[in-house]
Amino acid sequence: MDRIQLAEDLSFSRFIHGLWRLNDWNQSKEETLALIEEVMAAGITTFDHADIYGSYTCEDLFGDALALKPSLRDQMEIVTKCGIVLPSQNRPEHKTHHYNTSKKHIITSVENSLTSLKTDYIDVLLIHRPDPFMDPEQTADAFSQLHKEGKVRYFGVSNFKDHQFSMLQSYSDFPLITNQLELSPYELENFEDGTLNHALQNRIPPMAWSPLAGGRLFSSEDEKAVRLRSTLEKVREEKNAADVSQIIYAWLLNHPSRIMPIIGSGKIERIRSAADSLDIKLNHDQWFEILQSSMGHDVP
Ligand code: NAP
Repeated sequence: MDRIQLAEDLSFSRFIHGLWRLNDWNQSKEETLALIEEVMAAGITTFDHADIYGSYTCEDLFGDALALKPSLRDQMEIVTKCGIVLPSQNRPEHKTHHYNTSKKHIITSVENSLTSLKTDYIDVLLIHRPDPFMDPEQTADAFSQLHKEGKVRYFGVSNFKDHQFSMLQSYSDFPLITNQLELSPYELENFEDGTLNHALQNRIPPMAWSPLAGGRLFSSEDEKAVRLRSTLEKVREEKNAADVSQIIYAWLLNHPSRIMPIIGSGKIERIRSAADSLDIKLNHDQWFEILQSSMGHDVP
């Protein structure tokens, strides 16, 4: 499995495993541990979390599995996020849905994540969403304290536009090492609005969330999904690929910004199939056919 170097002493596997849906998989901790080990055997060592996943349960489920084999911790990279506050029976003190990127909230959130994940450190902490009420001095202060205490190695953001990224970066002594973005043939916003250009300009590889559009590319009956399915199937035949999802991943992987797709499935056969798409090279005709099929018209 290729790796992407994000700092001198930090690299991610090219594919990342996402744990947003872990609670839905209804696994015992032994089954989750078996999945983690199979994912790692496929060369995927980077795992993506957020405090809020599964209404604040997914980090615990992962941590309970990891506690069965703590030696795995140093062979993997753990990413988690903070900054969204959700009302939940697991957080009775949360009254409303809002964002909080204050120093106090970030530090409390990381301490909860460390307890849940049963680890002493987070490899990369992301601010989950841009916060219109952010005081960037406080956010940067939280980064400094967490780094000094050895609790977080590196920092990044998610869903930030270029101006939001640059603004926070200007307050922080630590380089923001990635921006986790919604990127798929179905969802082109970040391709079109300059967000990916900013990643290219600053040589900051983005992580791609919902690379298969959360499954909508297979199931939705809207015009765009139907159009894309037929184009993706045509390209799949041309490339003799095992399934359409490999062509979707290849479309992202072939982009020069060094996109790292986050796989959202808990099924090991789908995860292995994703890893096989690393060898698929699309030509310009194929890449643009997929783009134009999503746009619904030719490029000008
Ligand atoms: P995704 O890969 O786009 O979607 C996964 C869904 O697609 C699953 O329900 C899966 O079903 C289904 N699927 C996969 N392959 C399929 C196939 N061949 N045919 C039919 N259905 C298929 O990814 P995602 O789960 O939406 O997101 C991935 C990760 O991104 C999350 O786990 C999370 O870590 C991260 N994320 C981040 C943000 C953010 O704001 N930063 C937001 C959303 C997600 P099965 O489970 O049955 O395989």
